[in-house]
Amino acid sequence: MEEARREIPFFRPSIGPAEIAEVVDSLSSGWLTTGPKTKQFEAEFSRYVGAGHAIALSSGTAGIAIALDALGVGPGDEVILPSLTFVACANEVVHRGARPVLVEVNDDFNIDPNAVETAITRRTRALMIVHYGGQAANLAALYAIAARHDLAVLEDAAHAAGTTYRGAKIGADALPNAAGLPNGGALRRATVFSFYATKNLTTGEGGMLTTNDDALAERMRLLSLHGMSRDAWKRYTSEGSWFYDVVAIGYKANLPDPLAALGLHQLRRLDDFTNTRRAYAKILDDRLASVAQVEAPIVHGEAGHVYHLYVIRLVLERLTIDRARFIDELRNHGISASVHFIPVHFHSIYRERFGYAPEDLPRTAALYRRIISLPLYPSMSIDDVRYVSDAVAEIASRHATP
Ligand SMILES: *Cc1c(COP(=O)(O)O)cnc(C)c1O
Repeated sequence: MEEARREIPFFRPSIGPAEIAEVVDSLSSGWLTTGPKTKQFEAEFSRYVGAGHAIALSSGTAGIAIALDALGVGPGDEVILPSLTFVACANEVVHRGARPVLVEVNDDFNIDPNAVETAITRRTRALMIVHYGGQAANLAALYAIAARHDLAVLEDAAHAAGTTYRGAKIGADALPNAAGLPNGGALRRATVFSFYATKNLTTGEGGMLTTNDDALAERMRLLSLHGMSRDAWKRYTSEGSWFYDVVAIGYKANLPDPLAALGLHQLRRLDDFTNTRRAYAKILDDRLASVAQVEAPIVHGEAGHVYHLYVIRLVLERLTIDRARFIDELRNHGISASVHFIPVHFHSIYRERFGYAPEDLPRTAALYRRIISLPLYPSMSIDDVRYVSDAVAEIASRHATP
């Protein structure tokens, strides 16, 4: 390569002066835990996605736990989810005493509706849909299956803040209708977002649940703070604010104001972040189109990709090196890449406890061996993106099979 070597970390968050000033304001105000900024963040987030309810949380993982609990998932139940996801999705199913039924994804990395249909049993209680990398899954097919089999739906939108499907945002009340489900509102459904440090919209640690369902929202809010009811005591006493009643075995999962302060400004910048990511993805797509050893992401027009991840697939038959070597070569160019994800069913505890083996899901196993997540985020420069795309092309051509 003629160009000078650069250092490109896998991710660097875009924290600007507005975020910093808002955090300082939080600290000065004395509200160190959940308070007015968290309330405001919830209000602005629910408006942004078009959801009747938004509940801010300490993490996306907490949101998965609370939503599964509130949707009634418990011992003896089965929950269907893709194996190509972060392990928290499956762990939280196991924590409820339920069985994670891991299924295949398609080459676009999203859960295969046919695999879902095949995996349904009498015990299936819920379907967990992960909008992988920021591209919406096939919701028309998945909602129809959930409705037909009376399954609760939990959408993992950890990558999908701002993603749309047929014009409606992920997490929106209107999504089932947009997906063509008659009487879409009847689906029991919640959506969880993550604001972890590497996510598109970040509060360092944090998450959000959205739903259209009033009763479900009330239950999830209750569970997010020890199961303590503020309303119950109002009914039974005119006494002071020291009294509360605990009506559920809840969690401690509230979002503190100094973190919500970050979220307020990250949310206002989210559409700009997305536009930059899309422009950068196009640079990579265009450069990789002529590289026969690498496949760019499969993109569906209706699934409003926000490119939280840009994941290439190596064509291993056309390369003399494997994925691990390819990542080492990127590192030699100063580029940090990653892999999303080691499939859940590869992990030793899932093999031991649930009897999974890698080849149980052959398509996921084969896909996993050839995926690399490239750095792509708004705090990169256009030249950084060109540098990454040139490095991928250079490595691919140097290690191409004859
Ligand atoms: C990050 C992530 C989570 C967990 O979110 P946290 O906020 O880190 O708890 C869940 N699912 C997916 C797909 C993720 O990428």
